[in-house]
Amino acid sequence: MSLKAMVFIDGGWLYRNRVSLFAKLGEENFEIDYAKLPKLICEDVANGLDEDVSLVRTNYFGTIPSQRSGFNTSKQYAFYDFIEKSCGYDTEIHEVEVGSDENWIKMALASSLMFYAAQPGAFDVAILVGDDPDYAPALSRVRLFGKRVQIVGAHAPDGKSSMSLRGRRKVDDFPFLYIDDHAAEVRLVRELVKRVCKHCGNEEETTWAGPEFFCTACRGRYRS
Ligand SMILES: [Zn+2]
Repeated sequence: MSLKAMVFIDGGWLYRNRVSLFAKLGEENFEIDYAKLPKLICEDVANGLDEDVSLVRTNYFGTIPSQRSGFNTSKQYAFYDFIEKSCGYDTEIHEVEVGSDENWIKMALASSLMFYAAQPGAFDVAILVGDDPDYAPALSRVRLFGKRVQIVGAHAPDGKSSMSLRGRRKVDDFPFLYIDDHAAEVRLVRELVKRVCKHCGNEEETTWAGPEFFCTACRGRYRS
């Protein structure tokens, strides 16, 4: 029987630490393959344990500036929609005033972690993507339920060590994993493929992987 793993992603932490992925490959920026990320981490855990690990759910916690802030949040909403519909994440997104998001994410993630830990059979291994010492009390209590914990951190690109759960007692059960060790694998590679336009039926080469495809001409007509 395989172990059930549930992934908990601190979206704020992941956003800040994505630079460790870019730094690893010596790049400024690239797209991350969010569909692949939780699976890769589960594979790592499975290799370390020499047991099968099945991913039961990926819970993602993030924030978005409130309507009142005047920010254009359409891109962020599109991103959250994408990770939920195309990558299979369960998202919990909260509207916040600018600068107040940190605590909301941590409280929401820790609450969810405790909730699932208390459900018999929900998971065997909790994987936290978010190396933040504030999670220590929640992690130690999850382990009191007999669950095992894997923490995923990131190497600081500048070599400076930041506040970390590394080396803390009673917070985890496995050696630390580093997200940037997977930089090459989570870099999204967009392949050029031929697709049929939904509107006119013409074929065109594209890197667009979304569910519906419209050719250049039809997109141009739609815009004007
Ligand atoms: Zn077309």
